[in-house]
Amino acid sequence: MCFRPADASADASSSKCPECGQDIQVLSGIALKRCPHCRCDLVPYLKGEKPVPAAPAAPKPPASPSAPKAPNVPKA
Ligand SMILES: [Zn+2]
Repeated sequence: MCFRPADASADASSSKCPECGQDIQVLSGIALKRCPHCRCDLVPYLKGEKPVPAAPAAPKPPASPSAPKAPNVPKA
């Protein structure tokens, strides 16, 4: 009498929330659809539709706007 999970290939006993990085305890056979910590939607991650961000992406600094050229001061 050995118990075998229906799908052994999808073994995710524990994982981390891709959004907040907190540990998420996944019960066998029960996939959490929302992070209990940040309440984010985990379904896209579970389905593989959304790539898991490796690290919180730092917002790109806006390209330094070219400083407006000083208006030509008419010679007085
Ligand atoms: Zn989270």
